[in-house]
Amino acid sequence: MRRWYYIWFIALCVILQSAAYDSPQDFSNDAPRTVLLYAENVSDETMQQIRDLGITIISWVRNNLYIIVTEAERDLLHERSLEFDEVMKSDDELTLYKRAMYGEKMKLTDVYHTYDQIIDIVDDLIQQYPDLISKEVIGQTQQGNRDIHAVKVSNKVGEDLDRPVILFTGATHSRELVTPEICLELIKQLVTGYGTDERITGWLEFYEIYFIPVVNVDGHFIVTNNIDPRWRKNARDATDDWITAEYPKGIDLNRNYDFNFARGGSGDPESIRYRGEYPFSESEARAVRSLVERIRPVLSINYHSQGEVIFYPWIWRDMNAPDDKLLTEIAQGIADQITTIDGEGTYDIAYGAGLVGQSYPWLYGRYGTFDFIVETGRGAHVFPGEEVRGIVEANIPGAFYLLDRGKGPGLTGRVTDAGTGEALDAIVWFPTIETEEVDRRTTKPATGRYHRLLAPGTYYMIVKREGYETKVIPDAEVHEGAWTELNIQLRKKTQN
Ligand SMILES: [Zn+2]
Repeated sequence: MRRWYYIWFIALCVILQSAAYDSPQDFSNDAPRTVLLYAENVSDETMQQIRDLGITIISWVRNNLYIIVTEAERDLLHERSLEFDEVMKSDDELTLYKRAMYGEKMKLTDVYHTYDQIIDIVDDLIQQYPDLISKEVIGQTQQGNRDIHAVKVSNKVGEDLDRPVILFTGATHSRELVTPEICLELIKQLVTGYGTDERITGWLEFYEIYFIPVVNVDGHFIVTNNIDPRWRKNARDATDDWITAEYPKGIDLNRNYDFNFARGGSGDPESIRYRGEYPFSESEARAVRSLVERIRPVLSINYHSQGEVIFYPWIWRDMNAPDDKLLTEIAQGIADQITTIDGEGTYDIAYGAGLVGQSYPWLYGRYGTFDFIVETGRGAHVFPGEEVRGIVEANIPGAFYLLDRGKGPGLTGRVTDAGTGEALDAIVWFPTIETEEVDRRTTKPATGRYHRLLAPGTYYMIVKREGYETKVIPDAEVHEGAWTELNIQLRKKTQN
């Protein structure tokens, strides 16, 4: 009996589904999209109609719209008096994308930098300001074996100092080309502002600031070398000849982290959110991990595009992150500083999912780094050249806000061996705040230092390490305004 219900249920679903598809958008599903259309001053209402028709939108920046359609779709738009200019026709969809995203010459505007150019600019700055900026190779790309660089900025850049660390990254998704430009502009402003700008001078004396301007170096090469402007994932499994790199191959590097990996992204290699076979299968994600393991950022921003929204940890099993109040406050603080493209407002904030294998739940869940995904700009991934300057400049005050917030309040200190004074890799646990969703926070192994952003108040704190007597501090006090220093010495357990 039950089985029959089941069969009827399936049949009903099939009927309902075919009814749902019996709308104008489905007739084009199999037909090739061969026509690139363009229109200016497209209203929100028109956009809604375009979306309802299921038409493929390439970009919609400042109401200038590029779409690719089948011939039947083009005729339908015409029938509905939705007027477009026919830009070009081609049997090759990639050609249509190139024309829309690279422009008439099908060549990326030089407002954007290639990776080689970015590194050249960094090298020039290193020559000019050797005390303030350095670079290092943190790994090689999965497919192309290209160097992935991290850039460090501080007033004593040659020394590894016991300071809070801030991290900025760009181009995890390669087509999000404006994001390395933001990192590059930040690097320039920090280095050239030292000694002249009081705020910047203060930051360089207080922090070690790290950048990975381009995480996905192979993908960035594909997009900046006019090969394929759609490229988002890394280049794994592409052939050696980049020209024949087949979209959408590759792994979504922002689904390859090991915090809730299995429930994030897609298991389908053809998906643009394909997470890969296992966590950290990709050398680009491992390069980020090796840097983070070492530097343990207090705060970080991962720049992406687009949407003019900031995603942050998190919503998970209907619960927010343990540090929700502070995370929300900081996310809002960043967002309030960044003006939207239309100049009429500022960015929004939204909880990101905890179950996604992305960088922000990983950074926060594993290490306690307050990480924010800033989705820059609106309406495209590769923005028209004339928009780049504005988006970059709009984002600088958001980064500056983060640099102010790293000054506290919160608790910091070194955990050391009471007998020898050596730095200890220890757990620093706030049991009234932290839930089981997050890993226990630990000190930075090299220095024994912990940093914990907290609102002023009194906190219950447990510091422990195997082989040592656990220390309970029931009333650790956080003062207003700056970091409160609380050093902790652990005594070795005596053998019985
Ligand atoms: Zn992205």
